[in-house]
Amino acid sequence: MATQPGVCPCYYRIVSRPHCNTKPDAPTLRRRLLEWYRRSRRDLPWRPTPDRPANPYHVLVSEAMLQQTQVATVLPYFERFITAFPTVADLAAADEQRVLKLWQGLGYYRRARNLHAAAKMIVETFDGAVPATVDQLLQLPGVGRYTAGAIASIAYGVEAPILDGNVARVLARIYRIADPVDQPATRKRLWELAEQLAPGEAPGDLNQAMMELGALVCTPKGPRCMFCPASDGCGAFAAGLTDALPAASPKRKPKAVTHRVLAIERGGRFLFERRPETGLWSNMWQLPTAENGDDLAQRVGLTVGPAASVGVFTHQTTHRTIRFEVGHALAVAGRLRRGAGVWRRLDQLDDLPLAKPQQRAVAMLAARST
Ligand code: SF4
Repeated sequence: MATQPGVCPCYYRIVSRPHCNTKPDAPTLRRRLLEWYRRSRRDLPWRPTPDRPANPYHVLVSEAMLQQTQVATVLPYFERFITAFPTVADLAAADEQRVLKLWQGLGYYRRARNLHAAAKMIVETFDGAVPATVDQLLQLPGVGRYTAGAIASIAYGVEAPILDGNVARVLARIYRIADPVDQPATRKRLWELAEQLAPGEAPGDLNQAMMELGALVCTPKGPRCMFCPASDGCGAFAAGLTDALPAASPKRKPKAVTHRVLAIERGGRFLFERRPETGLWSNMWQLPTAENGDDLAQRVGLTVGPAASVGVFTHQTTHRTIRFEVGHALAVAGRLRRGAGVWRRLDQLDDLPLAKPQQRAVAMLAARST
């Protein structure tokens, strides 16, 4: 490769360092990752071990839960979920509201609906067995290339590559990739690198080793390079660029919006309505809430007395900063519009799945009435 003055001759052309000879060797890297993983892996209930064969359904559930969520958060949810739905057929036959209730607090509820739909498809189309090939897994709702690769490799030993945030960070550092990892061309390059690592012994262990390395050692901030099995051969470590990589495109500022919540009370019970089937928190329940200037009482056919403020809080989603303004009013007249909602005491919400901000609004309301 022709080099320019002051430009590193390595493939990834980081200009801030004058020199780089570090080039990881795929078979060696693979071997080191596997050795490290077998010594250091955490014993997780969905994870196959020499004494516990893989359960493809458990792997499917865990992969759905682990998207955007850390292992420690997922563990109790996974245990409760598997206790409630021990098999894929049990999940397929379950009521969606029960599935959402068991997911309550884990966030990103679309994952729960997709997992439920995937279980139904597995029963109807795949004779109740989680598919073993990447192509078939990709047919399941909510399953993309990463999840399909993870399930195929972990549950069935298929030589399928994976690339999620953790793995992208690990590969970008090892291979010293300077371009932002969220750009399509960089993703393509990272997938190619993951593909080069996939073939060989124990592809499921290899993929879990990369995930585990990203979670425990090659962390977003302050990677523990001294304890890393890949440090000998890691481009970022050799070049002192572990804090600079991976690079990301500048983030868009989240949009600021306001949601008005009106707790309408009648005879000690409060009105709860179901959110629409699509969009944020779809099919979850809430105190009447408006994202616009709607008259909330009129919307459900009621007339209310003067509203008192209960409190204000902010909830952050990926793209929005939502200010929740919670009020409380007594219903004084009118008849609840058919299908507009259900009346519940605040201690009778066990069957209504509520997203985190609605749980918070309910908690504020309960604290106020005690
Ligand atoms: S040496 Fe450091 S930067 Fe490189 S893979 Fe290991 S932990 Fe990450």
